[in-house]
Amino acid sequence: TPVLRFAPSPTGMLHIGGARTALFNWLYARHTGGKFLLRIEDTDRERSTPEAVAAILNGMKWLELDHDGEITYQFERAPRHREVAELLLSQGRAYRCYATPAELDEMRAAQRAAGKPIRYDGRWRDKGPKDAPEGAPFVIRLKAQDSGETIIRDIVQGDVRFANEQLDDMILLRSDGTPTYMLAVVVDDYDMGVTHIIRGDDHLNNAARQMQLIKALGWPEPVYGHVPLIHGPDGAKLSKRHGALAVEAYRDMGYLPETMRNYLLRLGWSHGNDEIIPTKQAVEWFNLESIGKSPARLDFKKLDNLNAHYLREMADTALADEIAAMLARETPPRTLSALARERLVKAMPQLKERAKTLVELTSAAEFLFTDGVRTPDEAAAKLLNDDAKKNLGEFLTTLTDSAWTAHALEDKARAFAEAKGLKLGQVAQPLRAALTGKTTSPPIFAMLEVLGRNESLTRLSAHTI
Ligand code: GLU
Repeated sequence: TPVLRFAPSPTGMLHIGGARTALFNWLYARHTGGKFLLRIEDTDRERSTPEAVAAILNGMKWLELDHDGEITYQFERAPRHREVAELLLSQGRAYRCYATPAELDEMRAAQRAAGKPIRYDGRWRDKGPKDAPEGAPFVIRLKAQDSGETIIRDIVQGDVRFANEQLDDMILLRSDGTPTYMLAVVVDDYDMGVTHIIRGDDHLNNAARQMQLIKALGWPEPVYGHVPLIHGPDGAKLSKRHGALAVEAYRDMGYLPETMRNYLLRLGWSHGNDEIIPTKQAVEWFNLESIGKSPARLDFKKLDNLNAHYLREMADTALADEIAAMLARETPPRTLSALARERLVKAMPQLKERAKTLVELTSAAEFLFTDGVRTPDEAAAKLLNDDAKKNLGEFLTTLTDSAWTAHALEDKARAFAEAKGLKLGQVAQPLRAALTGKTTSPPIFAMLEVLGRNESLTRLSAHTI
């Protein structure tokens, strides 16, 4: 069965390109009943931080991309990487190179001057320790094929050919005995039993080198799929300039994990013209053949539309939980009382019809979970002129014996409007302004019912004369 892996370097946040790579690997593992492994590539000790590891794990948890088995930390496996380098050395497939940094600089300068490509010239390929000064430092290099081709049979890119003479003998072990990234990746993938490597196409050149190493070791070739990188809305490669790169930023903007999975899936994979592909469906459909060959662009409008869709699909209680989670992340954090939560759930069918994000939903629901008189915003204040306030006061006196249901309250408002020769809106709009402080809200009579008699009258009577 297929074994897939996500192998992020913990040097920053989980960005959406990485999240998409994780998603594709996860989907293929779940689709095939295979495994989805997580490897933290923390060999760069200067740039790897525990915070970045936590950010990656949190991002994956939020996206609900669960991995199988234990996490592999690459740095811990350095002894094993060394062992493999020694093995190659003993088999004559690798060699010690004693070239000093100064000597290599000179070599490169000469190549540059001659207009030749800059690469290690193999000067120690056929030499050994006996040719070097006693105790001199050395690196271990792969004795790579220097003629012919290395072909990556890529499921996304097709066959990608590299002339071996253009690939120099790469370093496997540095002079301090630490393994290079190339060696670590190949050894870890083999030891973890990885069969399929789906990753960004910025790794395509690495694949050629990794393949040389795999061949030297006589290990099975994995299936490769190098996915075109995501581009910004302007068509340029995604960068800091585009903002909102971290998965967490999308959470904070109020997008749902289900939305993000659907959205990231469509950034580079397609199934006919389907745009709405819930994760369950994606697991059923996902294949490697339908990964796109050209880069996909971020499109926030699409993201909003998807999110609006998934918001409407969510259970009212679950949405109330999401709002509670948003509030808990504020500084200082806010909590929802049981009463406020109850109101939210009751109003949710109407609230969720008009929101595109959880942020919008939370702000539209604010009047339901904070009690007390509203200070109308500018537009609402305009509606609450003296005439309106007088009418509101009179209208309230007709409510003393009214049942507090949306239906009964609307009947009362209609009767009042008719008696005064007003349109319903001339009663309902000031009512909304006084109750919510805003000129837009879910249907106002339903909201009166949700807030209840006492809270509604407190708010309304503050705006009467
Ligand atoms: N650690 C690499 C990265 O973060 C990925 C290596 C791989 O997938 O082979 O880009």
